[in-house]
Amino acid sequence: MSLDEYESRRQLCSMSLGYTAYDVWATQARRERRYNIARLLNASSTVKRIRAECAFRALGEVGRTEANIARALAGLEPDTVATGPVTGTSALSRELMSRAAFALAEGRDLIAEELGDLYVCSGCGELMEGAPAVCAICGTVREGFLAFRAAESMGALGPNKLMRSLEQSIQTLHALMADLDDELLSHRVGTVSLKEMVGHLTDMDVVFRERAWLILETDNPRLPSAHPPTLEKAAMYADHTIGDLLDSFQVSRQQTLGLLRGLTAAAWHRTGHHIIFGTIPLTHQGNWVVEHERSHLIEMAQIRHDLLEAQSDNRPITLHDNLIPEILDGE
Ligand SMILES: [Zn+2]
Repeated sequence: MSLDEYESRRQLCSMSLGYTAYDVWATQARRERRYNIARLLNASSTVKRIRAECAFRALGEVGRTEANIARALAGLEPDTVATGPVTGTSALSRELMSRAAFALAEGRDLIAEELGDLYVCSGCGELMEGAPAVCAICGTVREGFLAFRAAESMGALGPNKLMRSLEQSIQTLHALMADLDDELLSHRVGTVSLKEMVGHLTDMDVVFRERAWLILETDNPRLPSAHPPTLEKAAMYADHTIGDLLDSFQVSRQQTLGLLRGLTAAAWHRTGHHIIFGTIPLTHQGNWVVEHERSHLIEMAQIRHDLLEAQSDNRPITLHDNLIPEILDGE
């Protein structure tokens, strides 16, 4: 093995492992609702992915698709070599991770002022905070950078998909609650029941609508309620009927849809100022509520499945204890 080839093999191993580490850590940070830290970890994983790709190409492992499929069938078996450290390998990376460590030590996400928009050069994998006109390493123009911006940290759904998702939740919730008696609906999984989760989704819809109204009606407002209602605050919904809870959700959601229906693209890009996320467009807050709702709807589908299975087998209810930890503090 030549020195160049050895170095490419080392790069491929190092970058592939680094990619996996950052990518999984980013998923975990999102689960913990640390969205700016997740954005940093996502950008970091992209750096590694691009560098792994460069090394893989340098090794001559990429041909025409016909040849690649033949290789895939034959079972690619790369030589592995010792890598040394695979994360925190650049000065900027260590600097950004140190900022994240500082914020986490204070029990919070990075706030907007602490982490600028991040860019990764698609040519060479260089990580940048803020976008220069060209990559200082390889000369790739700004248009070729991959962006990890605060405005999109919550998701990148556009107005049409956001509206469809917000509408769809009404039917999805009804379907998830169908054929469950009050005992099952009130059964606490961990600390919350399905009924309390429905009430919680309504609470969050109200917060979203208030923020959306402010963004649409005032100029770059400071977004209120840094502490939206958490699941624990939904305990009062345990005494309500499921019919009332679903009606409340539907009424609230229809008001929200009424506020948003027919908005122009320019209106969706009106902004508000958020202490954690910085100056963000309405689409950011749309992605915020849709993402929150989506994760709870998945949990609720799992709970429904587990409850019905236990009931039909006539056995005590044992549930997947896989509730997503909900930390809404400061959101
Ligand atoms: Zn570059």
